[in-house]
Amino acid sequence: MTARLVSSYCEGEWVAPGAAGSEIFSPLDGALIGSCGDGDINFEEIAHFARTHGGNALRAMTFHQRAHRLKALATYLNERREQLYELSFLTGATWRDAMIDIDGGISTLFVYSSKGRREMPDSKIYRDGGIEQLSQSGNFLGQHICTPRLGVGVHINAFNFPAWGMLEKMAPTLLAGVPAIVKPATQTSFLTQACFAMMIESKIFPPGSIQLIAGGIGDLFDHLGAQDIVSFTGSAQTAGKLKGHEAFTVEGARFMAEQDSLNATVLGTDCTVESEEFTMAVREVVREMTTKAGQKCTAIRRIIVPSNLTKEFSKAVTGELTSISVGDPRNKETRMGALVSHRQKTDVLAKAQMLAEEAELVFGDREQFSSHEGAYMSPLLFHCSDPDSATNIHSVEAFGPVATIMPYRDTAHAIELVNRGGGSLVASIFTNDNKLAREFVEGAAAWHGRLYFANRHTGKEGTGHGSPLPHMVHGGPGRAGGGEELGGIRGVMHYMQRTAIQGNPDLLGAITDSWVRGSQEIHQGPHPFRMHFGELEIGKTFRSKSRQITLEDIEHFAEFTGDNFYAHMDEEAASANPFFPGRVAHGYLLLSFAAGLFVDPDPGPVLANYGLDNLRFLKPVSPGDSIYVRLSAKEKTNRNEEYGEVLWDVELFNQDDEPVASYNLLTMNAH
Ligand code: NAP
Repeated sequence: MTARLVSSYCEGEWVAPGAAGSEIFSPLDGALIGSCGDGDINFEEIAHFARTHGGNALRAMTFHQRAHRLKALATYLNERREQLYELSFLTGATWRDAMIDIDGGISTLFVYSSKGRREMPDSKIYRDGGIEQLSQSGNFLGQHICTPRLGVGVHINAFNFPAWGMLEKMAPTLLAGVPAIVKPATQTSFLTQACFAMMIESKIFPPGSIQLIAGGIGDLFDHLGAQDIVSFTGSAQTAGKLKGHEAFTVEGARFMAEQDSLNATVLGTDCTVESEEFTMAVREVVREMTTKAGQKCTAIRRIIVPSNLTKEFSKAVTGELTSISVGDPRNKETRMGALVSHRQKTDVLAKAQMLAEEAELVFGDREQFSSHEGAYMSPLLFHCSDPDSATNIHSVEAFGPVATIMPYRDTAHAIELVNRGGGSLVASIFTNDNKLAREFVEGAAAWHGRLYFANRHTGKEGTGHGSPLPHMVHGGPGRAGGGEELGGIRGVMHYMQRTAIQGNPDLLGAITDSWVRGSQEIHQGPHPFRMHFGELEIGKTFRSKSRQITLEDIEHFAEFTGDNFYAHMDEEAASANPFFPGRVAHGYLLLSFAAGLFVDPDPGPVLANYGLDNLRFLKPVSPGDSIYVRLSAKEKTNRNEEYGEVLWDVELFNQDDEPVASYNLLTMNAH
């Protein structure tokens, strides 16, 4: 195999490693894979290039435009992903591991694209929450908004997920409108670089949006300021070193960390050897210990089992581990590949030795593969009989196929042990007892970024203890770093600044591409339902004629629908109700009459009524009252080439101009 030069990509050019770059050796046989680092890079200039070229181009797009590009990028990589699998073997990973890394990364791009289009506006400004009325008449309002930071996102990644690690950070960053500089871990940088090269070749994101530093980051931090963000994944030790830099302590750059974590799993007290949860927990432990050879930040390190079941549980896990074949990840039969490097293996064995001071080895052989040229090792299962006095098992992360079983007395004790990790990314609980699950949430949630509950009902549909999902928070308090990556749009917010905007309704509407109550209404031109998506102006308003509601209407509606609720049909009972003066109109009758008042009936650009949001009935309507409707185009979101979605602000008023109902109506309007 020819050694690869793992180049950086800076200011639109590939930069080859220098003579003092690090050599990378294969974990399979020790052969030289390539070299990385010491390229001729001006770190100040790449940060500047990102902020100016990349940042300006990204901020010129709306959230939807960026989300569409994420989808195009995901599709592009998906079509080429098998080329990356071959390289992935050289990280020690099996096919299954490669899929978690590569396919998992691509699917994160797809999810962020979809969420960006559904949950963010087709605008450059994100509204965070609703309008706050700050004055009595409503002429002075408040609205929180988020805009992209004017800096660069620097992503420093761990070695274990060379593709996913890059893509999961990049998706929310680019969606936010912020350029990224990626710095992969040296040992697996060749895979990150190959995936990155595809992204550059695709030309989907504008120049400067993404750059790559293979090797050290030089003096990059000296050139970061208050608008920049560093998102770090790796060991607590490195994080501790980096976050003390003046870029964060003096200049005010944002530092986020996803660190190591002593994740635990708990078998609930309701489980027995025969219960499905017992079998599920055994399977999960074995999967977590052996996937990626245990080099997963979320992997189960501590297995907390009721004391009467530890022996059986240990036996069951041991039985399953016996069938795990360790070896060359390119062989189809291999269930567990190599660790990423000999250095990593040495580190894991040293940490295992620390666990051995407090726990007994019940499965595995530390000497197995000791003379092998590859970085293979046997899974190691420990049993610690006194977890209360032990410290290492709760604090030493052996980042490999290593876990420790420990007994607990009761649920309170299990919660105490789970929390002794000092903050983790995830804890899982196998239980079919909802009360017990709730006890765990109350006692342990504050120490964990994610709690994963599994039982016979979740069955095979459960996504697994160790899988971070783009929809859900990934990160955890304390030792886990305090970060909160992913978690849907929450992950995008790290790259944006929240600002409170205060002003009059028209001004807020102009800033947020929407119509705000109290703003000017546009009445000229045809009925709004006669206007195509592109022609319809935000603020275009229709005020209907009024219609009186009679007792006959109410009775007719009750008979027709079968809704004979006493508030509409029984004067005496209705009067006794604290909300009603007597019989009142059905809320749904008002909505139906409202539609009759504002709809323009002939075929036209409005294709469909898509639903209502935020419906509130504000004041009862009695027989003899009249209602009229105000309908205003509040927001528009393009959906595809045929149609877009219009969100209408609708209010119903009575004869005294008091609001009686309020809602948002959604329609699909043709272009
Ligand atoms: P690491 O040694 O801390 O390295 C992490 C990253 O930091 C690498 O890219 C490394 O680059 C870089 N780095 C190291 N020293 C640096 C410095 N002085 N300046 C700038 N960058 C520096 O961790 P690792 O061994 O790669 O990863 C294993 C650890 O990561 C485990 O503890 C695991 O739990 C944790 N992890 C956490 C998560 C999570 O989401 N919470 C995910 C994966 C892994 P070089 O490789 O070039 O040194």
